[in-house]
Amino acid sequence: MRCSHCGKCCENTEMPLSKADIKRLEKAGFHREDFVQYDSRGYARLQNREGYCVFYDKKRRRCRVYKYRPLGCRIYPIIFSEDEGIIVDDLCPMKDTVSKSEVKKKGMLLVRLLRKLDEEAESRLLRTEQR
Ligand code: SF4
Ligand code: SF4
Repeated sequence: MRCSHCGKCCENTEMPLSKADIKRLEKAGFHREDFVQYDSRGYARLQNREGYCVFYDKKRRRCRVYKYRPLGCRIYPIIFSEDEGIIVDDLCPMKDTVSKSEVKKKGMLLVRLLRKLDEEAESRLLRTEQR
């Protein structure tokens, strides 16, 4: 795809983070309490600041952690819709530049990622309940 760097996908993000994403960002020097928030269902997600992902540089319109960004950000604009399954997000203005093979490849990655995120959220909730 061709990304126009419009920043729409970094605005009020709800991007989930896997344990591997968190570890990678920690290794890059960030502290989890500064970028991770947990929702009521046990999913770890990126924090926002002033309406954008905590890692988004508004001035330069760039991701400050591009090299280390979460897998979900790499897969975007391929998303999972409850009604339609794997789709290209309408929100992305460059969605028409995504090729069919990219949808297929990233779609497979997304299915695996979602499974992992579900498992991790479930075990987090279980641990909280056992405390
Ligand atoms: S919404 Fe689409 S075009 Fe805009 S920054 Fe995200 S991926 Fe790129
Ligand atoms: S990590 Fe980077 S690409 Fe992902 S939402 Fe934040 S600023 Fe955007």
